[in-house]
Amino acid sequence: MARRKSGSKLKRLFFLAILVGLAYVGVNAFRSGPAATIAIEHALPAIGKSTPLTVKVNEATRGLGALKVELVQGERSELLHEEEHVQLPPWKFWGPRVEEKQFELTVGRQHQDWLKEGTASLRVTAGRAPAWIMRPDPAVEELELPVRLRPPTLTISSRNVFAAQGGSEVVVYQVGESSVEDGVRAGDWVFPGFPLPGGQPGQRFALFSVPYDMPDATQVKLYARDDVNNESQMNFVDRFFPRPLTTDTIPVNDRFMGRVVPAILAQTPELTDQGNLLDNYININRKLRAQNAETLIELSRESEEAFLWDEVFLPMRNAKVTSSFADRRSYVYNGTVVDHQDHLGYDLASVKQDKIEAANDGVVVLSRYFGIYGYAVVIDHGYGLHSLYGHLSSLSVAEGDTVERGQELGRSGVTGLAGGDHLHFTMLLHGLPVNPKEWWDPKWIRDRLKLKLRDSLPYEG
Ligand SMILES: [Zn+2]
Repeated sequence: MARRKSGSKLKRLFFLAILVGLAYVGVNAFRSGPAATIAIEHALPAIGKSTPLTVKVNEATRGLGALKVELVQGERSELLHEEEHVQLPPWKFWGPRVEEKQFELTVGRQHQDWLKEGTASLRVTAGRAPAWIMRPDPAVEELELPVRLRPPTLTISSRNVFAAQGGSEVVVYQVGESSVEDGVRAGDWVFPGFPLPGGQPGQRFALFSVPYDMPDATQVKLYARDDVNNESQMNFVDRFFPRPLTTDTIPVNDRFMGRVVPAILAQTPELTDQGNLLDNYININRKLRAQNAETLIELSRESEEAFLWDEVFLPMRNAKVTSSFADRRSYVYNGTVVDHQDHLGYDLASVKQDKIEAANDGVVVLSRYFGIYGYAVVIDHGYGLHSLYGHLSSLSVAEGDTVERGQELGRSGVTGLAGGDHLHFTMLLHGLPVNPKEWWDPKWIRDRLKLKLRDSLPYEG
C-alpha cells in the first residue's frame, strides 16, 4: 500500500515537471515582445533649413531593443540615429530593461545638403523582442513632411540708406508672401519691420539704428524668414558714418555717493545692500543700470504700431548741454578707476526745477522712480521709438496718459545718479539708445525719413 502511494506521488511530480518544461519551452518559443509605440513630434509645419523633431519610443514589456531613425527622400536616406539595448529574454517577466527613449533631432538643408524641395519622411524603426520561433517584424513609424527650401523674396525699395554710428535710419522694402518675420538686424539688436502704412501687401518698413558701439555697418542686415527658418538677408546700408565714442572721466567722492546711494537703495528694494558706500555705488552703476536698460527693451515690445507724432522733436528749452550722446565714462574714486559705463543720452541743464516738456506726442509708458534715472518718464512715440526724461524732482503725468508735444511732464531735479539739477534725455529705438540730435533736426527727418516713407509718415515739417 505504502509503495503504491509513493509511486503515484512520483508520477504526479513527473507530470508536473513535464508541464513546467512544456510551459518554459512554450514561453521561449512564442513569447515575442509587443510592438513599441512610436511618436514623432514636430513644432514646425515643414522641413526647411533646420527643423527640430522629437521622437518618443516606448515598450515596457520586454524593453526596447534596436532603434533606428532615418531621413528618407526618394531613393536617398540618411541614418540620423542608431542605438541598441538588451531586451529581457522571453522567459523573464521582470528585470532591468529600457522602457522608453526620447531623441531630439534636427533635420533640414543645413544638415542634409542633398534634400530637395518636395516631401521627405522621417522613419523610426524599433526592433521587437524575438522568441525562439517567433521573429516579428520591427515596429516602423513614418512621418511625411513637405520640404521647403526657398526663402521669402526680399527686395529693397529705398535708395540712399545712410546710417551714422549711433544714429537712426529707415528702410522700405518688399517681402514675399511666405515671410513671417522681417526687419533689420544689427549685431544682437533686432529692429522689427512693420507693414508700410497705406502701402501694398508685402510692403514693409523698419526704423533701425547702427548701435553706438558698432564701428562699421557690415553687421547690419535686412532679413526676411519663413515659418521653417529659410531666410533671405542682405547688406543694404549705402553709406556709413563712423562716430566713435567720446571718453570722459567722472570723479566720484563720498559726499556724492552719500547723497545718491542711500536714496536709490531706499527706492529699489530688489537691490541687496553691499555693505559699504563704494560697493553699493558700483552695484547701482552696473547692475541697476543694466536692469533699467533691460526694462526699456521690454517696454519697446509694447510700442504702438503707428506714428504717434507729426512734428520735429523738441529739445529742452534754454538748456545748456553738459554731456552729449555716447560717452565712454571712467569713474574715478580716490585716484583709482572703479568703473566704466557708457552715457547714452544728453544732459541738459537750465534753472533748478525747470519745466520738463514732452519732446513729442505719444503715450506715457513709465512715470515712476526708475533706478539710476530717479523719478523718470518714458513716452512711446510708436513703432519702437521712445523718449526718456530722467532725474526729475516731480512727475505730473501718469502711465497710460496721452501727452502732446510740449506738455509738462514734471520738473527737473537731482534724483537717481545725478550730480546736480539737470535733465537726462534719451531717445531709444526698440530699447537701443540712439542719438537724439537727429530727431531734433527737421532737415534730418525730411531727408532721412520723409523722403523714404513719403505719405506713410504724417510729417509736414
Ligand atoms: Zn545723463
